[in-house]
Amino acid sequence: MKMKTKRMLAVITALCCMAGTVSCGRTLPNSNDDSDSSDNSNEFSVAGDEADGIETSEKEEQLTLVPRTTAAPKSAETVATDTAETSNPVSLVTRSKEEIDKIKNNKKTTAAAKTSKTTKAKTTAASTSSASSTTTTTTTKESAETTTTPQTPTIQLSYTSAEIVAGQTKAYAIVSGTYDEEWSTSDANVATVDQYGNITAVGEGSCKIRVTDKNTKEFGEIAVTVKKMQGIQQIDGITYVDGVLIANKTYALPRSYNPGGLTPETYNAFQSLVQAAANDGYSLWNASGFRSYETQEQIYNNYVYTHGQATADTFSARPGHSEHQTGMAIDVNNPSDSFNGTPEAIWLKEHCVDYGFIIRYPEGKQDITGYKYESWHIRYVGVEMAKKIRDKGIEIGNYNITLEEYFGINSKYN
Ligand SMILES: [Zn+2]
Repeated sequence: MKMKTKRMLAVITALCCMAGTVSCGRTLPNSNDDSDSSDNSNEFSVAGDEADGIETSEKEEQLTLVPRTTAAPKSAETVATDTAETSNPVSLVTRSKEEIDKIKNNKKTTAAAKTSKTTKAKTTAASTSSASSTTTTTTTKESAETTTTPQTPTIQLSYTSAEIVAGQTKAYAIVSGTYDEEWSTSDANVATVDQYGNITAVGEGSCKIRVTDKNTKEFGEIAVTVKKMQGIQQIDGITYVDGVLIANKTYALPRSYNPGGLTPETYNAFQSLVQAAANDGYSLWNASGFRSYETQEQIYNNYVYTHGQATADTFSARPGHSEHQTGMAIDVNNPSDSFNGTPEAIWLKEHCVDYGFIIRYPEGKQDITGYKYESWHIRYVGVEMAKKIRDKGIEIGNYNITLEEYFGINSKYN
Protein backbone atom coordinates (compact mmCIF):
# COMPACT_ATOMS: atom_id res chain seq x y z
CA MET A 1 0.00 0.00 0.00
CA LYS A 2 2.66 2.40 1.10
CA MET A 3 4.85 1.24 -1.76
CA LYS A 4 2.13 1.92 -4.27
CA THR A 5 1.59 5.44 -3.02
CA LYS A 6 5.29 6.14 -3.12
CA ARG A 7 5.59 4.86 -6.65
CA MET A 8 2.62 6.91 -7.79
CA LEU A 9 4.03 10.03 -6.22
CA ALA A 10 7.31 9.39 -7.93
CA VAL A 11 5.59 8.99 -11.25
CA ILE A 12 3.68 12.20 -10.73
CA THR A 13 6.90 13.98 -9.80
CA ALA A 14 8.56 12.63 -12.90
CA LEU A 15 5.71 13.77 -15.07
CA CYS A 16 5.87 17.22 -13.54
CA CYS A 17 9.59 17.35 -14.19
CA MET A 18 9.14 16.34 -17.76
CA ALA A 19 6.62 19.10 -18.19
CA GLY A 20 9.07 21.46 -16.57
CA THR A 21 6.51 22.80 -14.18
CA VAL A 22 8.20 22.13 -10.89
CA SER A 23 11.71 21.60 -9.75
CA CYS A 24 12.48 18.00 -8.99
CA GLY A 25 12.29 16.84 -5.46
CA ARG A 26 14.26 13.73 -6.08
CA THR A 27 17.53 13.94 -7.84
CA LEU A 28 20.30 11.60 -8.74
CA PRO A 29 23.76 12.56 -7.65
CA ASN A 30 26.43 12.76 -10.31
CA SER A 31 28.15 9.93 -8.55
CA ASN A 32 25.67 7.56 -10.03
CA ASP A 33 27.16 7.23 -13.44
CA ASP A 34 30.88 7.42 -13.05
CA SER A 35 30.68 10.75 -14.71
CA ASP A 36 33.39 13.23 -14.12
CA SER A 37 31.18 16.04 -15.25
CA SER A 38 30.70 17.74 -11.94
CA ASP A 39 29.49 20.72 -13.87
CA ASN A 40 26.61 18.93 -15.45
CA SER A 41 23.12 19.78 -14.45
CA ASN A 42 21.71 16.37 -14.89
CA GLU A 43 19.52 16.37 -11.91
CA PHE A 44 16.40 14.52 -12.72
CA SER A 45 13.77 12.63 -10.92
CA VAL A 46 13.12 9.00 -11.40
CA ALA A 47 9.80 7.31 -11.63
CA GLY A 48 10.15 4.43 -9.26
CA ASP A 49 11.41 3.32 -5.92
CA GLU A 50 14.98 3.13 -4.75
CA ALA A 51 16.22 4.66 -7.94
CA ASP A 52 18.68 7.11 -6.55
CA GLY A 53 22.08 6.59 -5.10
CA ILE A 54 21.07 7.63 -1.64
CA GLU A 55 18.47 4.96 -1.22
CA THR A 56 20.70 2.44 -2.89
CA SER A 57 23.44 2.91 -0.38
CA GLU A 58 20.95 2.58 2.45
CA LYS A 59 19.85 -0.64 0.92
CA GLU A 60 23.38 -1.89 0.73
CA GLU A 61 23.78 -1.44 4.42
CA GLN A 62 20.84 -3.72 5.01
CA LEU A 63 21.46 -6.27 2.33
CA THR A 64 25.15 -6.87 2.20
CA LEU A 65 25.14 -8.76 5.45
CA VAL A 66 22.14 -10.84 4.55
CA PRO A 67 22.94 -14.38 3.49
CA ARG A 68 22.03 -15.13 -0.08
CA THR A 69 20.67 -18.19 -1.75
CA THR A 70 20.66 -19.55 -5.27
CA ALA A 71 17.16 -20.90 -5.39
CA ALA A 72 13.99 -21.04 -3.39
CA PRO A 73 14.58 -23.06 -0.26
CA LYS A 74 13.81 -26.70 -0.64
CA SER A 75 12.31 -28.59 2.20
CA ALA A 76 14.74 -30.65 4.17
CA GLU A 77 13.03 -33.84 3.07
CA THR A 78 13.57 -33.30 -0.64
CA VAL A 79 17.00 -31.88 -0.28
CA ALA A 80 18.31 -34.68 1.88
CA THR A 81 18.36 -36.98 -1.12
CA ASP A 82 19.13 -34.33 -3.70
CA THR A 83 22.69 -33.18 -3.94
CA ALA A 84 22.68 -32.60 -7.67
CA GLU A 85 21.19 -29.14 -7.36
CA THR A 86 24.32 -27.89 -5.73
CA SER A 87 26.38 -27.51 -8.86
CA ASN A 88 25.32 -23.96 -9.71
CA PRO A 89 28.26 -21.86 -8.61
CA VAL A 90 26.63 -18.47 -8.62
CA SER A 91 24.29 -16.89 -6.15
CA LEU A 92 22.07 -14.43 -7.88
CA VAL A 93 19.15 -13.87 -5.62
CA THR A 94 19.24 -11.96 -2.42
CA ARG A 95 16.66 -12.45 0.22
CA SER A 96 15.12 -9.49 1.89
CA LYS A 97 15.30 -9.28 5.64
CA GLU A 98 11.58 -10.09 5.76
CA GLU A 99 12.13 -13.25 3.75
CA ILE A 100 14.95 -14.35 6.01
CA ASP A 101 12.76 -13.77 9.07
CA LYS A 102 9.99 -15.73 7.42
CA ILE A 103 12.29 -18.65 6.73
CA LYS A 104 13.53 -18.59 10.30
CA ASN A 105 9.97 -18.49 11.66
CA ASN A 106 8.96 -21.31 9.37
CA LYS A 107 11.86 -23.33 10.57
CA LYS A 108 10.79 -22.82 14.14
CA THR A 109 7.21 -23.89 13.52
CA THR A 110 8.03 -26.82 11.27
CA ALA A 111 10.99 -28.10 13.21
CA ALA A 112 8.83 -30.24 15.44
CA ALA A 113 6.86 -31.68 12.55
CA LYS A 114 10.06 -32.69 10.84
CA THR A 115 11.50 -34.54 13.80
CA SER A 116 10.48 -37.99 12.62
CA LYS A 117 11.91 -37.41 9.16
CA THR A 118 15.05 -35.92 10.63
CA THR A 119 15.55 -39.02 12.71
CA LYS A 120 15.14 -41.13 9.59
CA ALA A 121 17.73 -39.07 7.75
CA LYS A 122 20.04 -39.28 10.70
CA THR A 123 19.71 -43.03 10.72
CA THR A 124 20.61 -43.15 7.04
CA ALA A 125 23.51 -40.80 7.50
CA ALA A 126 24.78 -42.74 10.46
CA SER A 127 24.48 -46.12 8.78
CA THR A 128 26.56 -44.92 5.87
CA SER A 129 29.22 -43.44 8.06
CA SER A 130 32.03 -45.72 9.07
CA ALA A 131 32.97 -46.36 12.67
CA SER A 132 30.52 -45.31 15.32
CA SER A 133 27.32 -45.80 13.37
CA THR A 134 25.80 -48.51 15.49
CA THR A 135 25.81 -46.48 18.65
CA THR A 136 24.63 -43.23 17.12
CA THR A 137 21.72 -44.23 14.92
CA THR A 138 19.26 -43.28 17.61
CA THR A 139 20.96 -40.01 18.56
CA THR A 140 18.49 -37.30 19.37
CA LYS A 141 18.98 -33.66 20.11
CA GLU A 142 18.53 -34.32 23.80
CA SER A 143 21.13 -37.02 23.99
CA ALA A 144 23.48 -34.95 21.86
CA GLU A 145 23.34 -32.23 24.45
CA THR A 146 24.75 -34.58 27.02
CA THR A 147 27.48 -35.77 24.65
CA THR A 148 30.50 -33.51 24.48
CA THR A 149 31.49 -34.25 20.89
CA PRO A 150 28.85 -35.74 18.59
CA GLN A 151 30.36 -38.04 15.97
CA THR A 152 27.76 -37.81 13.22
CA PRO A 153 25.99 -34.85 11.63
CA THR A 154 22.65 -34.19 13.26
CA ILE A 155 21.99 -30.72 11.91
CA GLN A 156 20.13 -31.00 8.62
CA LEU A 157 21.08 -28.72 5.76
CA SER A 158 19.32 -27.87 2.51
CA TYR A 159 22.35 -29.18 0.65
CA THR A 160 25.19 -31.38 1.79
CA SER A 161 27.53 -31.20 -1.15
CA ALA A 162 28.48 -28.43 -3.54
CA GLU A 163 30.65 -27.89 -6.57
CA ILE A 164 31.85 -24.31 -6.79
CA VAL A 165 34.07 -22.52 -9.25
CA ALA A 166 37.12 -20.91 -7.66
CA GLY A 167 36.45 -17.28 -6.86
CA GLN A 168 32.69 -17.68 -6.66
CA THR A 169 30.39 -17.74 -3.67
CA LYS A 170 27.68 -20.26 -3.01
CA ALA A 171 24.84 -19.03 -0.84
CA TYR A 172 24.25 -20.50 2.58
CA ALA A 173 22.59 -23.84 3.12
CA ILE A 174 19.34 -23.51 4.97
CA VAL A 175 19.55 -25.07 8.39
CA SER A 176 16.55 -27.15 9.35
CA GLY A 177 15.90 -26.21 12.95
CA THR A 178 17.00 -23.40 15.21
CA TYR A 179 20.58 -23.48 16.38
CA ASP A 180 23.21 -21.10 17.66
CA GLU A 181 25.12 -21.44 14.41
CA GLU A 182 28.87 -21.25 13.99
CA TRP A 183 30.41 -21.96 10.57
CA SER A 184 33.89 -23.27 9.87
CA THR A 185 35.97 -24.80 7.10
CA SER A 186 38.34 -27.75 7.18
CA ASP A 187 40.64 -26.07 4.64
CA ALA A 188 40.64 -22.31 4.06
CA ASN A 189 42.85 -22.80 1.02
CA VAL A 190 39.97 -24.59 -0.69
CA ALA A 191 36.92 -22.72 0.58
CA THR A 192 36.05 -20.21 3.25
CA VAL A 193 32.71 -19.62 4.93
CA ASP A 194 31.32 -16.46 6.50
CA GLN A 195 29.34 -16.23 9.71
CA TYR A 196 26.10 -16.66 7.75
CA GLY A 197 27.18 -19.82 5.96
CA ASN A 198 27.93 -18.28 2.55
CA ILE A 199 30.74 -20.36 1.06
CA THR A 200 33.46 -18.80 -1.07
CA ALA A 201 35.57 -21.09 -3.24
CA VAL A 202 39.26 -20.25 -2.99
CA GLY A 203 41.38 -22.89 -4.71
CA GLU A 204 41.05 -26.27 -6.36
CA GLY A 205 40.44 -29.22 -4.07
CA SER A 206 37.94 -30.62 -1.59
CA CYS A 207 37.05 -29.66 1.95
CA LYS A 208 34.26 -29.81 4.50
CA ILE A 209 32.20 -26.86 5.60
CA ARG A 210 30.72 -27.40 9.02
CA VAL A 211 27.96 -25.69 10.96
CA THR A 212 28.12 -26.28 14.69
CA ASP A 213 25.68 -25.40 17.42
CA LYS A 214 27.73 -23.40 19.90
CA ASN A 215 25.91 -24.90 22.86
CA THR A 216 25.18 -28.52 22.04
CA LYS A 217 28.12 -29.01 19.65
CA GLU A 218 25.75 -30.72 17.22
CA PHE A 219 26.92 -30.24 13.66
CA GLY A 220 26.04 -30.50 9.99
CA GLU A 221 28.45 -30.81 7.10
CA ILE A 222 28.78 -29.87 3.44
CA ALA A 223 31.30 -31.58 1.20
CA VAL A 224 32.71 -28.87 -1.06
CA THR A 225 34.60 -29.44 -4.28
CA VAL A 226 36.26 -26.42 -5.84
CA LYS A 227 37.03 -26.40 -9.53
CA LYS A 228 39.04 -23.92 -11.52
CA MET A 229 37.53 -22.26 -14.52
CA GLN A 230 39.76 -21.65 -17.51
CA GLY A 231 39.24 -19.19 -20.34
CA ILE A 232 36.01 -17.39 -21.20
CA GLN A 233 32.88 -19.15 -20.03
CA GLN A 234 29.26 -18.13 -19.76
CA ILE A 235 26.97 -19.36 -17.02
CA ASP A 236 23.38 -18.12 -16.95
CA GLY A 237 24.32 -15.31 -19.31
CA ILE A 238 27.15 -14.13 -17.07
CA THR A 239 30.66 -14.03 -18.49
CA TYR A 240 33.63 -15.29 -16.51
CA VAL A 241 37.24 -15.21 -17.57
CA ASP A 242 39.34 -17.64 -15.55
CA GLY A 243 36.57 -17.47 -12.99
CA VAL A 244 36.48 -13.67 -12.75
CA LEU A 245 33.09 -12.14 -13.50
CA ILE A 246 33.37 -9.58 -16.28
CA ALA A 247 31.08 -6.64 -17.02
CA ASN A 248 32.35 -4.19 -19.60
CA LYS A 249 31.28 -2.77 -22.96
CA THR A 250 31.70 -6.13 -24.69
CA TYR A 251 30.27 -8.36 -21.97
CA ALA A 252 26.91 -7.42 -20.48
CA LEU A 253 25.17 -8.80 -17.45
CA PRO A 254 21.63 -10.09 -17.84
CA ARG A 255 18.79 -8.03 -16.38
CA SER A 256 18.19 -10.85 -13.91
CA TYR A 257 21.65 -10.59 -12.34
CA ASN A 258 20.97 -8.84 -9.07
CA PRO A 259 23.03 -9.56 -5.97
CA GLY A 260 20.91 -6.95 -4.17
CA GLY A 261 23.92 -5.07 -2.84
CA LEU A 262 27.64 -5.45 -2.58
CA THR A 263 28.62 -9.13 -2.42
CA PRO A 264 29.57 -10.14 1.13
CA GLU A 265 33.23 -10.60 0.20
CA THR A 266 33.34 -7.17 -1.46
CA TYR A 267 31.66 -5.55 1.51
CA ASN A 268 34.01 -7.18 4.00
CA ALA A 269 37.11 -6.39 1.94
CA PHE A 270 36.04 -2.76 1.69
CA GLN A 271 35.55 -2.59 5.47
CA SER A 272 39.14 -3.77 5.91
CA LEU A 273 40.35 -1.26 3.35
CA VAL A 274 38.54 1.60 5.08
CA GLN A 275 40.02 0.54 8.43
CA ALA A 276 43.54 0.38 7.02
CA ALA A 277 43.12 3.83 5.49
CA ALA A 278 41.86 5.18 8.80
CA ASN A 279 44.93 3.73 10.53
CA ASP A 280 47.04 5.73 8.10
CA GLY A 281 44.97 8.85 8.72
CA TYR A 282 42.76 8.79 5.63
CA SER A 283 39.01 8.75 5.50
CA LEU A 284 37.48 6.62 2.75
CA TRP A 285 33.84 5.81 2.19
CA ASN A 286 31.52 4.13 -0.26
CA ALA A 287 29.93 6.88 -2.34
CA SER A 288 28.19 4.47 -4.70
CA GLY A 289 28.23 0.70 -4.70
CA PHE A 290 25.64 -1.62 -6.15
CA ARG A 291 23.28 -0.47 -8.86
CA SER A 292 20.64 -2.70 -10.39
CA TYR A 293 20.05 -3.14 -14.12
CA GLU A 294 16.88 -1.09 -13.78
CA THR A 295 18.59 1.77 -11.98
CA GLN A 296 21.32 1.93 -14.60
CA GLU A 297 18.69 1.83 -17.31
CA GLN A 298 17.01 4.91 -15.87
CA ILE A 299 20.29 6.75 -15.42
CA TYR A 300 21.52 5.94 -18.91
CA ASN A 301 18.21 6.74 -20.62
CA ASN A 302 18.10 10.08 -18.91
CA TYR A 303 21.60 10.92 -20.11
CA VAL A 304 20.68 9.86 -23.63
CA TYR A 305 17.64 12.13 -23.37
CA THR A 306 19.66 15.12 -22.19
CA HIS A 307 22.97 14.62 -24.05
CA GLY A 308 22.27 12.28 -26.96
CA GLN A 309 23.50 8.70 -27.10
CA ALA A 310 26.98 9.34 -28.49
CA THR A 311 27.88 11.69 -25.65
CA ALA A 312 26.09 9.60 -23.02
CA ASP A 313 28.15 6.57 -24.06
CA THR A 314 31.38 8.35 -23.20
CA PHE A 315 30.58 8.63 -19.51
CA SER A 316 27.61 6.45 -18.64
CA ALA A 317 27.36 2.69 -19.04
CA ARG A 318 24.48 1.12 -20.92
CA PRO A 319 22.23 -1.06 -18.76
CA GLY A 320 23.84 -4.45 -18.21
CA HIS A 321 27.28 -3.04 -18.94
CA SER A 322 27.81 -1.17 -15.67
CA GLU A 323 30.30 -2.80 -13.37
CA HIS A 324 28.24 -1.53 -10.45
CA GLN A 325 25.65 -4.18 -11.28
CA THR A 326 28.17 -6.85 -10.29
CA GLY A 327 28.02 -5.83 -6.62
CA MET A 328 31.82 -5.83 -6.71
CA ALA A 329 32.49 -2.22 -7.73
CA ILE A 330 32.63 0.82 -5.47
CA ASP A 331 33.05 4.51 -6.16
CA VAL A 332 35.16 5.83 -3.34
CA ASN A 333 34.55 9.22 -1.72
CA ASN A 334 34.07 11.52 -4.68
CA PRO A 335 33.35 10.12 -8.13
CA SER A 336 34.72 13.02 -10.09
CA ASP A 337 38.01 14.18 -11.61
CA SER A 338 38.59 16.37 -8.58
CA PHE A 339 39.37 13.16 -6.64
CA ASN A 340 42.37 12.49 -8.90
CA GLY A 341 45.69 13.18 -7.22
CA THR A 342 44.24 13.72 -3.75
CA PRO A 343 46.10 12.05 -0.86
CA GLU A 344 43.15 9.65 -0.55
CA ALA A 345 43.34 8.73 -4.25
CA ILE A 346 47.09 8.14 -3.98
CA TRP A 347 46.63 5.99 -0.87
CA LEU A 348 43.83 4.04 -2.55
CA LYS A 349 45.91 3.29 -5.64
CA GLU A 350 48.84 2.16 -3.54
CA HIS A 351 46.95 -0.07 -1.10
CA CYS A 352 43.75 -1.33 -2.69
CA VAL A 353 45.47 -4.42 -4.11
CA ASP A 354 46.25 -5.66 -0.61
CA TYR A 355 42.50 -5.88 0.01
CA GLY A 356 41.62 -7.50 -3.30
CA PHE A 357 40.68 -4.38 -5.29
CA ILE A 358 42.02 -2.91 -8.52
CA ILE A 359 41.68 0.58 -9.97
CA ARG A 360 39.43 -0.59 -12.76
CA TYR A 361 39.81 2.27 -15.24
CA PRO A 362 43.44 3.37 -14.99
CA GLU A 363 44.97 6.48 -16.45
CA GLY A 364 45.66 6.48 -20.18
CA LYS A 365 43.67 3.33 -20.90
CA GLN A 366 40.44 4.78 -22.25
CA ASP A 367 40.87 3.02 -25.59
CA ILE A 368 41.17 -0.32 -23.81
CA THR A 369 38.61 -0.12 -21.00
CA GLY A 370 36.22 2.17 -22.85
CA TYR A 371 36.25 4.57 -19.91
CA LYS A 372 38.38 7.53 -19.02
CA TYR A 373 40.56 7.48 -15.92
CA GLU A 374 38.51 6.94 -12.76
CA SER A 375 40.72 7.15 -9.71
CA TRP A 376 37.70 6.52 -7.48
CA HIS A 377 36.24 3.38 -9.07
CA ILE A 378 37.59 0.17 -7.57
CA ARG A 379 36.65 -3.39 -8.46
CA TYR A 380 36.91 -6.38 -6.13
CA VAL A 381 38.63 -9.40 -7.71
CA GLY A 382 40.07 -11.01 -4.56
CA VAL A 383 43.51 -10.53 -3.09
CA GLU A 384 45.14 -13.32 -5.06
CA MET A 385 43.88 -12.09 -8.44
CA ALA A 386 44.55 -8.41 -7.62
CA LYS A 387 48.17 -9.26 -6.84
CA LYS A 388 48.50 -11.43 -9.95
CA ILE A 389 47.31 -8.52 -12.09
CA ARG A 390 49.65 -6.05 -10.39
CA ASP A 391 52.63 -8.42 -10.64
CA LYS A 392 51.95 -9.10 -14.29
CA GLY A 393 51.94 -5.34 -14.90
CA ILE A 394 55.27 -4.95 -13.12
CA GLU A 395 56.70 -7.91 -15.01
CA ILE A 396 55.88 -6.48 -18.42
CA GLY A 397 56.47 -2.84 -17.48
CA ASN A 398 52.79 -1.95 -17.87
CA TYR A 399 52.10 -0.46 -14.45
CA ASN A 400 48.55 0.58 -15.23
CA ILE A 401 47.58 -2.82 -16.60
CA THR A 402 43.84 -3.26 -17.08
CA LEU A 403 41.63 -6.30 -16.56
CA GLU A 404 41.13 -6.31 -20.34
CA GLU A 405 44.87 -6.47 -21.01
CA TYR A 406 45.47 -9.07 -18.32
CA PHE A 407 42.84 -11.42 -19.76
CA GLY A 408 43.26 -10.39 -23.39
CA ILE A 409 39.64 -9.35 -23.84
CA ASN A 410 37.90 -6.36 -25.42
CA SER A 411 35.61 -3.68 -24.09
CA LYS A 412 33.62 -2.31 -26.99
CA TYR A 413 29.91 -2.01 -27.69
CA ASN A 414 28.83 -4.23 -30.55
ZN1 LIG B 1 32.00 3.59 -10.61
